[in-house]
Amino acid sequence: MNAVIDLADRAATALRRCGAEPHGDDAPLVVTSPIDGSVIARVHTCSPGEVDAALTAAARAFDRWREIPAPVRGRVVRRLGELLTQHKADLAELVTLEAGKIPSEAAGEVQEMIDVCEFAVGLSRQLYGRTMPSERPGHRLMETWHPLGVVGVISAFNFPVAVWSWNTAIALVCGDPVVWKPSELTPLTALACDALVRRAAADEGAPDGLHHLVLGDHSVGEALVDDPRVALLSATGSTRMGRFVGPRVAARFGRSLLELGGNNGAIVTPSADLDLAVRAVVFAAAGTAGQRCTTLRRLIVHRSIADELVDRIAVAYSRLRVGNPFDEGVLVGPLISERSYESMCAALDRARADGGRIVTGGERVDVAGAGVYVSPALVRMPAQTEVVREETFAPILYVLGYDDFDEAVSVHNGVPQGLSSSIFTRDQQEAELFLARSDCGIANVNIGTSGAEIGGAFGGEKNTGGGRESGSDSWKSYMRRATNTVNFSAELPLAQGVEFG
Ligand code: NAD
Repeated sequence: MNAVIDLADRAATALRRCGAEPHGDDAPLVVTSPIDGSVIARVHTCSPGEVDAALTAAARAFDRWREIPAPVRGRVVRRLGELLTQHKADLAELVTLEAGKIPSEAAGEVQEMIDVCEFAVGLSRQLYGRTMPSERPGHRLMETWHPLGVVGVISAFNFPVAVWSWNTAIALVCGDPVVWKPSELTPLTALACDALVRRAAADEGAPDGLHHLVLGDHSVGEALVDDPRVALLSATGSTRMGRFVGPRVAARFGRSLLELGGNNGAIVTPSADLDLAVRAVVFAAAGTAGQRCTTLRRLIVHRSIADELVDRIAVAYSRLRVGNPFDEGVLVGPLISERSYESMCAALDRARADGGRIVTGGERVDVAGAGVYVSPALVRMPAQTEVVREETFAPILYVLGYDDFDEAVSVHNGVPQGLSSSIFTRDQQEAELFLARSDCGIANVNIGTSGAEIGGAFGGEKNTGGGRESGSDSWKSYMRRATNTVNFSAELPLAQGVEFG
């Protein structure tokens, strides 16, 4: 009982410190913590009318925000970065309470928000267009970038704040207001972020209505999908969700940016530094209890070293402490729900039926209170069967053997998803070949599949949806490109030498 009061109190305190309030006891959406399954708050959900009002206000804000110079828009994001820094501990606390991440990973997620704000502030002075030589004398040919419109953001439970910030920090400097539909499992972190971004906007004298939070289930998300006022819909979640969202947005000629499921693989070659590989593999496969889109799910190991590597990973797994993420020394927190555990068990049953052998893990771990805790599973598979080709959002690492490098790459690419990938090798030729042949949006050498930095473009190919967010030139998705030709001569030459009259 104490724990129950404690978690709810902790959530309310962190929320208030960020300038938000938990909603009353009559609010319909019940927020539970995966740590012990207890109710930590209740929040209101948006009616269709409220979603419509948010979109109307955001569209109105766009008219004013687009006129403000990008470096001035950047000041709101700089202020947001300052507020996120001040409230880093509060936000991390909420991430642990709602998503179950261990405090270090939760703080890392908030740091990612701060980092992307810094990046976006710099970007606000670098929204560069190109100039090209015109084929006509006395003409200038160039590209200019313009604000796009309202950006809708749909986010998943497992990165409840970072993904929002990747979109929002960039969208704001690009001149776009944001309407955010967070996961129904993590509305408190969203309330806190919404309060902070509104404060940043007010502190910098930005127009009203730049940011709106619309809480609710998939039906609220669907309202964003179908509304033509949403110029870009950035949707992060399962491939199942993306299959719905992508075609629906395309049908109204809207833009979508899809960040969907991954089924990430790593190849370990005979020349690999196994000490380094073991450490990287354990973090990538068992960290966040296997609930990252970039979690390592398939390990493709040269048969000459497979037994040794599997033994060493099994030893490392046996030392991982599974439990309440707030407890000292815990590295693996809870699964988000009982349903996640059921899908993990179902996948392990199918793997066994396919001839797989569970080396370790996959068992329920009893942790005081309640919550769904499980030991990360390590499974040797005779082949990449159907279950291995699917994303099970839980800590299962399938190990597959290979004899020949080309075979390893072909197994690696032989899944429908294409998010993150890595190779462990000290052979430069293998490393380079892998970087060229991996069909994923992210390909790494001698680091794991998870834990990307914000400076690069983040996203994946195939069933992962093809979107790119965060660093590099991802900002281009949030702007409209115009090609401009300026004639500063007194003649009117036509392109391609066409004569007309
Ligand atoms: P989910 O698909 O169940 O939900 C994600 C979000 O989509 C939620 O806000 C949900 O309400 C909304 N949604 C669901 N159906 C919708 C619909 N028909 N229309 C509009 N909105 C809808 O995913 P989840 O369980 O919250 O998250 C886990 C999944 O997300 C995994 O597959 C993981 O790989 C993926 N993910 C991908 C990335 C990435 O960047 N590629 C990042 C994080 C998570």
